[in-house]
Amino acid sequence: MALTPVRHVVHIKTTKRYAKYDAELDTTVCDRYNNANLTLTMRLGFRQINPAGGAASGTYHDYGDPTKPARTIVRWTPGSWSRWKTNFVRSAQPFWNGKFWLVNNFPTCLEFEDGQTYRPNIYCRFRLSGADVAAGGSYHHTIDVVRLDPSESFFGSHSTLYDSNDTQPTPKDTDSTGAAVMQRAHVHEIGHLLGMGHATQGSAACPQGPRDDTNADACYGTSDHDMHSVMGSGMALYTVHAFPWRWAAADITGKGTVRSPADNRELRARRTRLLGGPQPDPTTNDWSAKMVRHYPRTQDEARLGQAITRRPSR
Ligand SMILES: [Zn+2]
Repeated sequence: MALTPVRHVVHIKTTKRYAKYDAELDTTVCDRYNNANLTLTMRLGFRQINPAGGAASGTYHDYGDPTKPARTIVRWTPGSWSRWKTNFVRSAQPFWNGKFWLVNNFPTCLEFEDGQTYRPNIYCRFRLSGADVAAGGSYHHTIDVVRLDPSESFFGSHSTLYDSNDTQPTPKDTDSTGAAVMQRAHVHEIGHLLGMGHATQGSAACPQGPRDDTNADACYGTSDHDMHSVMGSGMALYTVHAFPWRWAAADITGKGTVRSPADNRELRARRTRLLGGPQPDPTTNDWSAKMVRHYPRTQDEARLGQAITRRPSR
């Protein structure tokens, strides 16, 4: 009688620390209904920008750039500072948390037994913390924040310089139907801190620069789709925004290649020039992102390429 091979199930919790965030892959939660969790944790350190010389009000330049217009700012109070930090974290974390599932196309990768052998997908989670730089500690990013005077309606922010209105919905553009495209700036800036560029970055209209300086209007999108993107002028999440999780999944598991959306665009453009006509992107099937729950699959379901978006309870 042949011996039945015993598969040893090794559940893991692996954390890798990157410059922009920490990433933890946790398979201890896996069963036939539950995928592995991939949690990106970002620690922000907030720092007040106050009017010079201890004054109650003063000015500060857009983007912190002396060549740009100066806006009136006021001194932070303990109450306004505390409320701003709390509101920032409470509204930005849920925007990015729990929105994507990454499909595992790699035989044996993370597989476990629950009656039979299952291959989990990866559920994408996000944890954000914001503390005061003045209190000490280590942060992935340090964010300077100005408190705008109520008379000011605009301030030029970037990913590490915010104003006190950046958590409020603000009209950023107008789409082809004439509707205002609204955005809460801080969720867009978190996208940058997660490593993503603007909606059309890397396209001919918005060439990839050496750093995140692609602020031409076209970079925020001219089509309604791109304009409404959270990395354009709006609040829409698309599967392309799973890039930070896909990248971390490939890095932690050692399976697959995931390139940034801008890299993909450049590769596609290069192949199109070389081969004539649009070409499929060979990198997009690794840890491909879905915005509906995809359950762990049996080996047969995975082999047949089935997507299991409903799994009857036992
Ligand atoms: Zn931006």
